[in-house]
Amino acid sequence: MPLESYATILKHAGQNGYAVGAFNIFALEFLPAILSAAAEERSPALLQINPVHFHHHDLPNYLAYVKAQMARVDVPIGLNLDHGLSKETILQGIEAGFPSVMFDGSRLPFAQNLKKTAGIVVLCKSRNITVEAELGHLNDEGLELTPETQQRLFTDPDKAAEFVAETGVDALAVAIGNAHGFYKGEPKLDFERLQRIRDKTQAPLVLHGGSGISQADFKKAISLGICKINIYTEMSAAAAAFVKQETAKQQAPVDYPTLLSGAREAVKQVVKHKMRIFGSSGKA
Ligand SMILES: [Zn+2]
Repeated sequence: MPLESYATILKHAGQNGYAVGAFNIFALEFLPAILSAAAEERSPALLQINPVHFHHHDLPNYLAYVKAQMARVDVPIGLNLDHGLSKETILQGIEAGFPSVMFDGSRLPFAQNLKKTAGIVVLCKSRNITVEAELGHLNDEGLELTPETQQRLFTDPDKAAEFVAETGVDALAVAIGNAHGFYKGEPKLDFERLQRIRDKTQAPLVLHGGSGISQADFKKAISLGICKINIYTEMSAAAAAFVKQETAKQQAPVDYPTLLSGAREAVKQVVKHKMRIFGSSGKA
């Protein structure tokens, strides 16, 4: 079926009490894994590409191929540029064919993030492109969560309301104790804050850094308004673990196609598992 829009996918998730998984592809091996998981689970999904992985490809050609593969699957699949850090990157992504983008100004001071995000929204709306933005800082450094660090890093509910109203973004990524990569220690999400953000704004809410969050915490976050969850690290780790195990097991020379197909299968199992936890299985 044709590409589904980011906004429609998130709206359906929000209205039906589940979250859609947004799975990053950095290379072609991940693409069939995610698409076949979605088809088998009858689940909507979002594919994402982070600009840090752009250099692996001739981007317009790569996106054309990704879209052609997406169109062969009969469940709703959207495509999003993940973490565009500058206007130039966003424009490069739009030019190459992304129908939705995430602009990440989260490391900027509030006023600057708001101003730049609003500019990106104006730029994108005229081209019918959806915009996700982020407010607050993900705890990627693994800082100890004291009242001071929480105050500094986490999304402020009042500012979230102001940010959404002033910028007109289609979705808001929040910082509530989540982090990219694997967590250093047990993730501890601030659900009371998430509830207050939900009370203050109707924008669809997004959780980045989904790798390592428990099933119970995912379900609670979804019940409090999270309708998109980003996953990358766990897929990458599952693929790498298979390659490591298989390489150790095989006699030389190692059979490369076996490594690729096994890695693909490992990624697919992670994706299917997440779709069941997020409640998106059977929703297509
Ligand atoms: Zn992210």
